[in-house]
Amino acid sequence: MSIASKIEEIKNSIPKNVKLIAVSKTKPAEDIMEAYNSGYRIFGENKPQELKEKYNTLPKDIEWHMIGHLQTNKVKYIAPFVHLIHAVESIKLLTTINKEAEKNNRIIDVLLQIYIAKEESKFGLSKEELITLLESEEFNSHKNIRVVGLMGMATFTNDSSIVRNEFKYLKQIFEFTKEKYFSNQDSFKEISMGMSDDYKLAIEEGSTIIRVGSSIFGSRNYNS
Ligand SMILES: *Cc1c(COP(=O)(O)O)cnc(C)c1O
Repeated sequence: MSIASKIEEIKNSIPKNVKLIAVSKTKPAEDIMEAYNSGYRIFGENKPQELKEKYNTLPKDIEWHMIGHLQTNKVKYIAPFVHLIHAVESIKLLTTINKEAEKNNRIIDVLLQIYIAKEESKFGLSKEELITLLESEEFNSHKNIRVVGLMGMATFTNDSSIVRNEFKYLKQIFEFTKEKYFSNQDSFKEISMGMSDDYKLAIEEGSTIIRVGSSIFGSRNYNS
């Protein structure tokens, strides 16, 4: 099946209010253009330099999402154009994004990443760390970032009950955070959870943004 028809198939199988991000990391511009020419405009990357290069060479009406772990010294590459930064998990990173956003005269939307998996290798804030961050003076002084929701990555396992419980937990933290800190901000409404293997489960548990790569573009080859 073509890239365009895979996107079409996934879009037709998910609710209208769930946003599908086509994760094009490691894939060439031709693959993105195939999706683009079929009308698709929302893509995600996890490496700032790769994202910047693709932004420079591809059509400017693409909505670019930075989905992976981001180092502070690389924020400058994407600050001029990025639509949403998904995986923010420290006050230091937030402060850098705020500074770069200010330089570019923009307000940058971000999601805070919550640690929901049982894997050491995954990033994210615990609920306690999230509370500390949201109540800190430093966070509340930032004028050029807008937190529009939370993001999480489930454990890599075939056991769907584990994955489902992790998504449920993220949804719970979202509800708590919404009520306690963002009850008067309609823009705080996103839960970015779900990838190729688990997006159906994630949607059942309340996801509003899914990040799907290999089910659209095929498997990735990191050695080439
Ligand atoms: C690569 C990646 C995805 C997409 O993964 P697939 O399993 O290929 O759908 C989603 N989210 C993040 C953060 C990623 O790095």
